[in-house]
Amino acid sequence: MPEISFDNTKTAFEYKSDRELERAKFLFSTMGKDWVLRMGLKMTPWALKWGLPIRGIIRNTIFNQFVGGETLEETAAVAEKLGQFNVDIILDYGVEGKEGEANFDHARDVFINSIRYAASHSHIPFMSVKLTGYARFGLLEKLHAASSYHDIIQGKLPLYAISEREKQEWERVVQRIDQICESAKKNHIGVLIDAEETWIQDPIDALTTQMMQKHNQETAVVYNTAQLYRKDRLQFIKDSNSWASQNHFKLGMKLVRGAYMDKERERASTFNYPSPIHETKEDTDRDFNEALNYCISPSNDIYIVVGTHNEYSNMYATELMNQYGIPFQSRQVHFSQLYGMSDNITFNLAKAGCFVSKYLPFGPIADVIPYLMRRAQENASVSGQTGRELLLIRQELQRRQKDK
Ligand SMILES: Cc1cc2nc3c(=O)[nH]c(=O)nc-3n(C[C@H](O)[C@H](O)[C@H](O)COP(=O)(O)OP(=O)(O)OC[C@H]3O[C@@H](n4cnc5c(N)ncnc54)[C@H](O)[C@@H]3O)c2cc1C
Repeated sequence: MPEISFDNTKTAFEYKSDRELERAKFLFSTMGKDWVLRMGLKMTPWALKWGLPIRGIIRNTIFNQFVGGETLEETAAVAEKLGQFNVDIILDYGVEGKEGEANFDHARDVFINSIRYAASHSHIPFMSVKLTGYARFGLLEKLHAASSYHDIIQGKLPLYAISEREKQEWERVVQRIDQICESAKKNHIGVLIDAEETWIQDPIDALTTQMMQKHNQETAVVYNTAQLYRKDRLQFIKDSNSWASQNHFKLGMKLVRGAYMDKERERASTFNYPSPIHETKEDTDRDFNEALNYCISPSNDIYIVVGTHNEYSNMYATELMNQYGIPFQSRQVHFSQLYGMSDNITFNLAKAGCFVSKYLPFGPIADVIPYLMRRAQENASVSGQTGRELLLIRQELQRRQKDK
């Protein structure tokens, strides 16, 4: 198997011109300044609401770095470019936080349209879904509050705990998601269902299990997501796997560390319950890597997406594949990083022949703002991800300078 190095910046940034790299350098160094970030996070939603002319600035900076485009057609250009380097994309209709039946139906229609589009391109193996784009948050919260772990593993929901009207509302949610999964299956596209806040996650897990049981007979079409920053998720993966084997369907699981740590801890502290999140990063890392070990082991027939920017975890996954004799081209282990981050991992994995993608959101600027805010926060500290991105970009610019 080919040797992989995440330090190879030539491979990492081959798809970017000098000008594009300079722009990325500017963006990451700006986001690394705490006061700029704090001001941006506060002012942007406000400025958009009041119609201030900041769309152009957003479009040419953070939007271009992290989002594919406002429409599918614009996103196609990015997909084409990445495809030339054997990097696939996971399409994500990035609209968040829009409630109401009409919006939920609209999101479903856009999604099914995108599935058809994805099927006509060779580099879009998956699409990703946030259930809160198709269901009312309050309804998910209510179902979550009445759920039990044992039932959720089996895909059962406490429908007795909601009113007749809410049951009909839930039925429409199930229908939307089922229509999406059905269309994806017909078009040979995988559906990744995102994990969200712990206080709405149980109905998401139960519905995803129902969908896997229905659509994952021959292969994994539908994937759930496990956030390994949660203390209970390693066991959840094992229990989900037992349920899948007993019921003869394929388990699909996207492994991530988790995006809502501060919010989770704050809520646990406000309502005085034990935080569901590991106390330390080391504990999260240990569970993430243990989950890789469990899922990649050939004794468990699990389809996974390794969703991380952590160099150790990505390398460890490739080592496990080597150890178990699983070819890098295997469809059962897919790697993915967010568009705009960790190109050193994505492009070097692709060069080694791995099945790898960029997670690429698209949608109107105003609608993808919550997603952009999360990316800005995640890239906030210079000692963290931003520092690594900046270092690699600077190294590549210097290397190119020397070659001229
Ligand atoms: C393809 C893809 C899909 C994703 N889908 C989802 C999704 O569906 N749902 C979701 O929630 N997130 C999702 N994410 C985001 C993901 O959960 C992480 O927030 C992000 O990837 C950073 O983690 P990392 O493994 O890449 O990097 P690392 O830098 O190794 O890890 C950072 C993460 O470690 C954890 N962590 C940090 N400090 C501590 C601490 N003190 N104690 C305990 N844990 C700590 C947090 O989860 C933090 O985000 C996705 C990411 C990718 C790449």
